[in-house]
Amino acid sequence: MNLDRLIADAEICVRCGLCTSVCPTYNLFFEEIEGPRGRVMLYADYAQGLVPETERELVLEAAYECLDCRACQTVCPNGVKPGEAALDARAALQGGRPKDRLTGLFLSFFYSPLLIDLANLLLVFYQRSGLQRLMRRTRILDRLGLKKIAFAESLLPEKPVRLALRLTGPKRLVPESEPRGKVAFFLGCMMNLIFSDVSEATVRVLKEAGFEVAIPRETACCGAPHIEEGDLLGFERLAKKNIAFYAELEADYIVTDCAACAAELKKYAEHFKDDPEWAERAERVSSRVRLFSEFLDQVGLPKEVRFPFATTHQHACHACHAQGVKEEPERILSFATDYRPMEGNTDCCGSAGVYNLTHTENSMKILEKKMHAVAETGAEVLTVENPGCLLQLGLGTRTFGPEVEVRHLSQIVFEGLNDGEAPGR
Ligand code: SF4
Ligand code: SF4
Repeated sequence: MNLDRLIADAEICVRCGLCTSVCPTYNLFFEEIEGPRGRVMLYADYAQGLVPETERELVLEAAYECLDCRACQTVCPNGVKPGEAALDARAALQGGRPKDRLTGLFLSFFYSPLLIDLANLLLVFYQRSGLQRLMRRTRILDRLGLKKIAFAESLLPEKPVRLALRLTGPKRLVPESEPRGKVAFFLGCMMNLIFSDVSEATVRVLKEAGFEVAIPRETACCGAPHIEEGDLLGFERLAKKNIAFYAELEADYIVTDCAACAAELKKYAEHFKDDPEWAERAERVSSRVRLFSEFLDQVGLPKEVRFPFATTHQHACHACHAQGVKEEPERILSFATDYRPMEGNTDCCGSAGVYNLTHTENSMKILEKKMHAVAETGAEVLTVENPGCLLQLGLGTRTFGPEVEVRHLSQIVFEGLNDGEAPGR
């Protein structure tokens, strides 16, 4: 447990307050303890044993109030990392395990790709049988007082979900001409469960860009849900599975269309750097990981594309703040569309893992502000590169407007390359 880092963060903080100006929770409540600076001091007090046992719950609560959006880290002049410190604090206070049984049960779902595929089948049935329409029309979950489940249900897209890519998608794609290189596509859990149409577009764009694409079924969850919930042991178990597999896989790059997966996979190297058994292999994996827009910007669009609509882009926190991927999607959109940058496009949309489920009221206030910014741009299409943001922004358009289409960047690129056609299967 990284208690030393919690103390070091507080030691290098010069209390300038730059971070508070960009912190979504500080800007909701204007309380020091709801902002990065206050939280960093609190975690350090805990790490030094200055917090009485009776107050431990308060420290944990403060750590979970943080969205881990890391906007504070981008602006901090001294390299303090309050977002990552929140994750360290959660793990430290929980002994590296889930905080309760329910969370443990939720996290265990991600250990089995089979369960994710099964959930995808249930979701397909739920939507296509008309059950979703019925549930929404009758508002039965609300009437039964199942508020959290009703909220989770409201996040689901209305557009029918496709069968999981792992179940029915191709295992390998080969371009018509001599491949420029070999790419392994990382099947993210949420992408596979809900957005396999997006991943289908992603792998086909990679092929059209001239790469041979492998889509390995052996991929495990990247561990992001576990590290977010302080389950360090669960994270390491999954990370080691991926490292053992991908370190040996012959591929020039490991590409993912999920910003959270990309951020986590890139972190493996740092996480295991002092572990002689895993360090070298973790580095071999992390160094080859690219987010979709990062990769496409690097290799170039296969041909000139032009979309007949105006776009704006929301940067997922795990892309812009965790990986520094910001210019790349903007460059792609500027080449191909009437791109209209949105005010605050690096501010969190309020999704933040399961923050929208655990802190719904805060999350909805953050989302409402975001949707006003989207409306200001007048764009017809809003793009993003993360499944949680896709769900949250979809809910945003249904709740607050405006009527924009929320798409993954890879979908509009694919359609631009293929005369507006979506990928079939
Ligand atoms: S910006 Fe950095 S140095 Fe300034 S108060 Fe925030 S954490 Fe401390
Ligand atoms: S990670 Fe985000 S929510 Fe957490 S302290 Fe930093 S800016 Fe605030």
